[in-house]
Amino acid sequence: MALSPEQLGTIFPYFIAFWVAVALAALAFFHFNKNGPLKRKLFLILTIVADIALLGFIWVSGAPLPFLAVVAAFMVFGAWQAVRFTRFCGKCGANNFPQRPFQSRTECKKCGDHLAVD
Ligand SMILES: [Zn+2]
Repeated sequence: MALSPEQLGTIFPYFIAFWVAVALAALAFFHFNKNGPLKRKLFLILTIVADIALLGFIWVSGAPLPFLAVVAAFMVFGAWQAVRFTRFCGKCGANNFPQRPFQSRTECKKCGDHLAVD
């Protein structure tokens, strides 16, 4: 189901507007919300849904299957890395993104509380 270049040109502005809206909503939520466990659940769901949506768009754009497979592999690796190594403080709700590759923070950057591995 590949879309024609004209169809892609038509939906592209909506595609960009959708991703900007999703990004702004996610930034606002993860910045202002202080519920660590809720952030953890939503981060996992958002990561998976965003990857699937982006792969879907690449698929309908008519990309060759080998390209789609390589992109999917990178996206799965990136999603795994983001979900595996990002921590949300259960005490203050702060986002604790990894500072080194393949290594989670063990203490909250904001309050110093121990970050549980979940
Ligand atoms: Zn904290």
